[in-house]
Amino acid sequence: MLKKSTHKTICSYCGVGCGIEVSVDSKGTLSVKGDESYPVNMGMLCSKGKNLNYVAQDTTDRILYPQMRWSRNHPMQRISWDTAFERAAAVFKSIIDKHGPNSVGFYVSGQCLTEEYYLVNKLTKGFIGTNNIDTNSRLCMSSAVVGYKKMLGEDSVPISYADIELSDCFLIAGANPAWCHPILFRRIEKHKEENPQVKIIVVDPRKTQTCAIADLHLQILPGTDVILFNAIARWLIEKKKIDKKFIKNHTVNFEACKESAFQLSLRKAAELCGISIDDIRTAASYIGNAKAFISMWTMGLNQSVIGVSKNLALLNLSLLTGQIGKPGAGPFSLTGQPNAMGGREVGGMASLLAAHRDLGNPRHRAEVAEFWGGKEISGEAGYSATEMFDALESGKMKAIWIICTNPIVSLPNANKIERALKNASFVVVQDISHNSETTEFADLLLPAAGWLEKEGTMTNSERRISYLPKVIDPPGEALPDVEILWKFAKKMGYEGFDYSDASEVYDEHCLLTKGTNIDISGLSYDRLKNEGSFQWPVPDPKHKGTPRLFTDLHFFTNDEKSHFNAPPKLYNQSEQTDVDFPLILNTGRVRDQWHTRTKTGKVKRLLTHIPEPFLEMNKVDAYLRNLKDGDVAVVKSRRGDVQVKVKVNYDIRERVVFLPMHWGKMLNNDFGRANNMTSDLVDPISKEPDFKYCAVQVSKY
Ligand code: SF4
Repeated sequence: MLKKSTHKTICSYCGVGCGIEVSVDSKGTLSVKGDESYPVNMGMLCSKGKNLNYVAQDTTDRILYPQMRWSRNHPMQRISWDTAFERAAAVFKSIIDKHGPNSVGFYVSGQCLTEEYYLVNKLTKGFIGTNNIDTNSRLCMSSAVVGYKKMLGEDSVPISYADIELSDCFLIAGANPAWCHPILFRRIEKHKEENPQVKIIVVDPRKTQTCAIADLHLQILPGTDVILFNAIARWLIEKKKIDKKFIKNHTVNFEACKESAFQLSLRKAAELCGISIDDIRTAASYIGNAKAFISMWTMGLNQSVIGVSKNLALLNLSLLTGQIGKPGAGPFSLTGQPNAMGGREVGGMASLLAAHRDLGNPRHRAEVAEFWGGKEISGEAGYSATEMFDALESGKMKAIWIICTNPIVSLPNANKIERALKNASFVVVQDISHNSETTEFADLLLPAAGWLEKEGTMTNSERRISYLPKVIDPPGEALPDVEILWKFAKKMGYEGFDYSDASEVYDEHCLLTKGTNIDISGLSYDRLKNEGSFQWPVPDPKHKGTPRLFTDLHFFTNDEKSHFNAPPKLYNQSEQTDVDFPLILNTGRVRDQWHTRTKTGKVKRLLTHIPEPFLEMNKVDAYLRNLKDGDVAVVKSRRGDVQVKVKVNYDIRERVVFLPMHWGKMLNNDFGRANNMTSDLVDPISKEPDFKYCAVQVSKY
């Protein structure tokens, strides 16, 4: 009989980062409930979080021991961990010797813990000698990262969830928090219920559940966000609803913003956006008259070939109105994944450096290289997520190590991803579950410990760092990801990886942040365990954390001013529709599924909400194609096609269709795999793919 125990941890799904209490009974059965003392969710959990105990307890799909195959013609066979590390090190060394360090790369995940992210970044940039370390966070927040850096000097979310209850105007653009950030949405919904005068504007080509609380839904045409935000900026300037004192004392580049905003008349902007001019005026007046204004956004803006422009145009609105650094006000990007923020803090992307240092700055690179005691760090960005798979397909990259992500389903142009993995000389997949379709492509398959089976930290959307304890043992021979990484590094012969547990990795990361804008050198595991979560920076052991940044209106830029930026692009320059491909495909999430369903797909009760993929389509478009609700259609783009049932309504704009991104190849031969069709065009600055804009045709099956 086991001793009963209760542990506080964090949900492993979205970037809201809800606190969870996990109980283990005398038979080892797990149960979960919302942590009432946790400041994010105050005891609330959404359907996904409430069912995490089933995911953790069900080990039927788990990878239990290392496996490898000698060649693609041989079957996978069970091997020991020693053999696995020897094989991995031998192949990596031989490829690096023959083709150089840029011929290998690591592709990781916003679900990795910060310690794992830190270590894989150190291994790759500091010791292997390549910056080819990227992450599925590239698909999520990289456009927002560029926007924050240009505006504030650092990738720094200025505000907290606690600002929600202090705000009187929300602009929610390209996001459906009712389904994708449910607990955060519940806080906005409650605030609106208690304060009906609070204004909520939703910008989305679809009428989603989030619109249920909106005072105004701007159902714009896909790709016209910059035009809309610029039109709002123009109205604010013309009507003198701007904060002149703030602009004069704390910003630069106002004229560039104004010039961009005045390129189009309001009438022209309304026409291009496909909405009424009065709606633009109403939205602008809500913002201009607000005492405290918050903008919220996520993939609808970020996942675009003009994702950076969309971010900059939106961020300009906060500066025009002086709505930053004060209660209830500021721009607030909603992170998709639980630890995308922590990954950015340790520089876990091909274009970043540890502790928010700048990869392009030689002094910063030298500081980090000296701290790690490894090789000189190159100033050239490595391959971003999609570039990595392009390089595998073309043969420039030979080996890839994939950790905790399922690119066969989640990356755009999925057929190309398959070709790339088939063309690779060596594919390592480190994951918890055989449910990931990517495991089929592994030459070496490594079993990793999952949620509750290892300790570490994560940072949520509001810069809140929390500790996740180890509660149960991993099944079979699975190991924590940090341990797999440091053992591989040692097998490669690298010094500086003599860790005995995750806390030592964390301490090293904290030390590297000392003196930076994200300084957490005052935040130990002990403090996190004893005092709870903290928002960075936490620069000394007595510091209580920083709920709101820039309260003194000094920003992280060299001149300490916030910077207006003219968005480089007004228009979406993605692939265009034509007679063969007349509709725009938009992709996204549904309420009860997470990413590629490797976890949520095995919880029966989560399948009751939406059990299978669907193509949402306007009734007019369906009528023109002789399609009725429930009919099977063929959706085809210039890259691939799928069959899927249609859901017909008037909630989505004409000539736009929507398909969830969760369903993959294993299920019914590509039935509904959205990324068969999506475009792998990327924003030229952020390298974030264009998931939300892909020309398709739809016909009856
Ligand atoms: Fe988990 Fe996000 Fe749901 Fe909270 S809102 S319980 S973090 S999935």
